[in-house]
Amino acid sequence: MRAGTTVGGGGIPDRNRRPRSDQGRSRLWSGYLVLGFCAVALYYALPVPAGGVPSRVLVYCAVSASAAVAVWWGVVRHRPRPRAAWVLLGLSQAVYALADTAFYTAHYVFGQTRYPFVADVLYLAHYPLVVAGLVVLVRARRSGRDLAGLLDAASLTVVAALLSWVFVLGPQTRLGTSPLVEAASVAYPLMDLVLLLVALCLVFGSGPRGAPFVLLTGWLAAILTADTAYVLQRLAGTYEAGNFLDAVWLAGNLALGACALHPAMSGLGLPAEAPEPRLSAPRLALPSAGALVGPAVLLVEHAKGEWRDVPVIAACCAVLFALGAARLAGMAVDQRRLATTDSLTLLRSRRYFEARLADDVAAARRSGVPLGVVILDVDRFKSVNDRFGHPAGDRVLVEVADRLRAVAGPGAVLARYGGEEFAVVVTGPQAEDPSGLAERLRDGVSRRPVRLDDRTSITVTVSAGTAVFEPRHDSAQALVSAADRALYLAKGSGRDRVVAGGAVSPEDPLVGYLDQVADLVDLRLACPGRSLAIAEWARTVAGHLDLPPARVRTAGRAGRLLDVGLAVLPEELLVRPGPLTEREWELLRAHPDSGARLVAVLPEEGEVVAAIRGHHERWDGSGYPEGLAGEEIGVEARVLAVCDAWAAMCADHPYRGALSREQAVAELRAGRGTQFDPRLVDVFLDLVERGAVGDLAAGLALTRPV
Ligand code: GH3
Ligand code: MG
Ligand code: MG
Repeated sequence: MRAGTTVGGGGIPDRNRRPRSDQGRSRLWSGYLVLGFCAVALYYALPVPAGGVPSRVLVYCAVSASAAVAVWWGVVRHRPRPRAAWVLLGLSQAVYALADTAFYTAHYVFGQTRYPFVADVLYLAHYPLVVAGLVVLVRARRSGRDLAGLLDAASLTVVAALLSWVFVLGPQTRLGTSPLVEAASVAYPLMDLVLLLVALCLVFGSGPRGAPFVLLTGWLAAILTADTAYVLQRLAGTYEAGNFLDAVWLAGNLALGACALHPAMSGLGLPAEAPEPRLSAPRLALPSAGALVGPAVLLVEHAKGEWRDVPVIAACCAVLFALGAARLAGMAVDQRRLATTDSLTLLRSRRYFEARLADDVAAARRSGVPLGVVILDVDRFKSVNDRFGHPAGDRVLVEVADRLRAVAGPGAVLARYGGEEFAVVVTGPQAEDPSGLAERLRDGVSRRPVRLDDRTSITVTVSAGTAVFEPRHDSAQALVSAADRALYLAKGSGRDRVVAGGAVSPEDPLVGYLDQVADLVDLRLACPGRSLAIAEWARTVAGHLDLPPARVRTAGRAGRLLDVGLAVLPEELLVRPGPLTEREWELLRAHPDSGARLVAVLPEEGEVVAAIRGHHERWDGSGYPEGLAGEEIGVEARVLAVCDAWAAMCADHPYRGALSREQAVAELRAGRGTQFDPRLVDVFLDLVERGAVGDLAAGLALTRPV
């Protein structure tokens, strides 16, 4: 993590001090409600014919029209988004006010009682506008798909439709009224059902739920209640204009007007920051209880000896069953997604990653398709938390995840593996060398600074370790461990880099045993981590020679077990200062051969055995045990010779202090073409220069348990 840069400045405005005009506006909606309810009281107090002037009509229509004006005012003043929703709601209320004017004028002024009348056309025309406005609003408030909300709303609407059929629509169609009366009487309950569906979507959906939301849903509840009572009264022949239903309709209008005047109405159409929990007890209980309505109605009809609604009830029950099944399926999908998704970064969870890797390992064993993993860890992330706080740290993690996702592509299995660690499963051709992908991921994260707020941005870097699956030995765990060790090496050699590792953590206990022997030899040489460092350098050098992955792995494995043959020598021989006798030299020179014999007990490790045996051969043919020269010596053994010599020069020995870097470089150069393959010396020194190999301390870091 590089130092943060701070730009910009300026004072923070006092959010608690609200401008005077705002305070006035915030009281407007409550003042409107109070005045409105006074007007409703006046409506009922006024005598029906008031000196020839239809005052009642005036008051009623004024209240109804005031809601349309309030919506228009709210749209202009508060500039709500989406504007279309509010324009449609305002239009619907204007049509509604016109319908009221037509109805009450006809009723009170002209004594007109015909049904349906022109007012009914206007009343019916206002529904599609309300529904369209609400649909736009509901869609704007969603933070994603909301199938659950739609299914719950549909279930309750089907229950309402069932009741509507039994108590309203069915009886209406059996009255034998004129087609026009029947059409109008059926149209109202049908429109109300559509409105109910959208209103329930609003209630079950996500989005802000402040006072404007309560007022808006209050408006819808009032309309639906009064409409239903109106239809029932009409059916029973008890409806009279001016009865208590007018108060309910007027209260609904006032709620809409107050909602539009409320200063927070502009936020009503904003998406929710986080999805609402969709599994609350009422949410589960309500549709389930609704599903019992069908059987209950059936029982009542059975008791009364009536069977005519059975087909409709059966159809509604079937639809409810299908909706319930879809809801359950949706819940199962949601639960599965929750279990496999990291809640902060929305990447795959560690649980998913491990399950998927196990599957991919099994598939790779069967079919031999290449498989690799990349593990990435944010560098010095603790300091981000320390300097900017945990929430800022979380934002950095989300941004890093987004950048990794953008590079890895939509099909990649990219997971949050731990706190600030990420992991990628790589399959197909790029799995033969996942370092390329790892490098692009690393670059994608650090290329641009991460913005924490308007004034602060920081550069974030990641280190990465990679490993390639080796079907003969590796388990999923071994693969991850190998990548993890490579990651530690990347950290140890300076961070903000990628280190390629092989899968070297064994399933075979014998392999584990030999690793322990290698560690023991390192300790005897007073240089813990030495063989791990050599293994890593050997892999890196072999990788730069464009050797196939299997030979890169051979180089790494042979580097790790390079000196196991020294384990059979007396310890004092390894650390004793002063010259050795001829016999002691003889013993010492036998160690490539003894090491090779030890490793040869492992099945299918022929190349590793050959590399270990040849690591003291010299380019000019003066080495041992065979005296091979030039390219007669396997390339892995030639790589090991350079790495081994570098480790010997850089370590502090009891018999000789470590050489300085310059001395070691000079020494290695001096061996070009005599002791070492000259090309390999150049490659190695180039990598040393770039910091990719050569740090023995990095090997020590690898000896930590991971
Ligand atoms: P480096 O990896 O480069 O060695 O240094 P580091 O500072 O990143 O090392 P370390 O792994 O010790 O620190 C990781 C920190 O990540 C410690 C922990 O507080 C923090 N962390 C883990 N999970 C979260 C998280 O979900 N949110 C935040 N903000 N911090 C987290
Ligand atoms: Mg870290
Ligand atoms: Mg970490």
